[in-house]
Amino acid sequence: MSVVTLQLGQCGNQVGQELYDVICSDAQDAQRRTTHTTVSCERFFHQNKHGDLVARAVLIDMEPKVIKQSMKKAADSGRWRYGDDSHFSQKQGSGNNWANGFCVHGPRHIEVVEELVRREVERCDRLAGFMTMMSVAGGTGSGVGTYVTQSLRDAYSKSFILNHLTWPYGTGEVIVQNYNSVLTLAHLYQLSDAILVHENDTVHRICSQLLNIKHISFSDVNRVIAHQLGSVLQPALTADSHGVYSRNPLGELVSSLACHPEYKLLSVCTIPQMPSSSIAYSTFSWPGLLKHLRQMLISNSKMEDGKFLSVANICHLMSV
Ligand code: GDP
Repeated sequence: MSVVTLQLGQCGNQVGQELYDVICSDAQDAQRRTTHTTVSCERFFHQNKHGDLVARAVLIDMEPKVIKQSMKKAADSGRWRYGDDSHFSQKQGSGNNWANGFCVHGPRHIEVVEELVRREVERCDRLAGFMTMMSVAGGTGSGVGTYVTQSLRDAYSKSFILNHLTWPYGTGEVIVQNYNSVLTLAHLYQLSDAILVHENDTVHRICSQLLNIKHISFSDVNRVIAHQLGSVLQPALTADSHGVYSRNPLGELVSSLACHPEYKLLSVCTIPQMPSSSIAYSTFSWPGLLKHLRQMLISNSKMEDGKFLSVANICHLMSV
């Protein structure tokens, strides 16, 4: 089954490009050229008429620069690429303004975006669902991303929608990031089947403390996010799978995690510290990962550290 990814805004496009890169190199790992390669490629790529692996992704931004860079990086890798006609950009950004993205750019460009998504969906033999990738702090990822999620929910009411969100640094480069974040979450929790959150601060700490990177760039941060996401989304054999790779990655992932309907907001950012080698090669074991996430959700219900927002918290935030 295949997953169609929508990369939105600067962050969504940069993280998405890293994710496909990790998935492609894991799938093409010479030692694993087996069913894993086939299943993983079917899940995330299709082949064009030249036999190239093409990501099942739609790239959306209100400025062209980042999309151009992501497409170039992918093509330069020589292993995979983005589709030539799978992107949409404009000349003027959303100015880190959620409302500009949600109320202006979203409605204005939704038809073009829907058409790009429809084409990508038609290329799938079996659609497992959608994954959107975006930050919650800017304007395009958060505002347009929310609007596009809403339109996906309308158009594909039975399909699974997973939102991957990048949480801003606490210090905050965007002055209105708290407003953008709350507005995004307040809508997404009603639309989405699952939300995975990566906190920039936490990933930054992994880069400095575990990987000993001296001058940490977004590229380093994104690499870690991509490896963590890759380990959750790539085909895996589990104790219950009887030697067969799971066929519905998003659905199975979330049915195992969502132990209570209230806790839709999940995070892979606090998976206990592990050796850098295991981060680098995406080797979380499924049972281990699920156990950690379950524990996290249970501790979340106590609201001790206030780090994770449950739906109830968001409602509370909105009503204040
Ligand atoms: P948009 O293009 O309007 O959606 O705005 P951005 O995606 O630039 O959103 C700004 C937020 O995203 C800030 O909190 C940045 O820290 C974060 N951000 C921007 N680019 C990246 C990236 O490549 N990786 C990560 N992890 N965060 C990013």
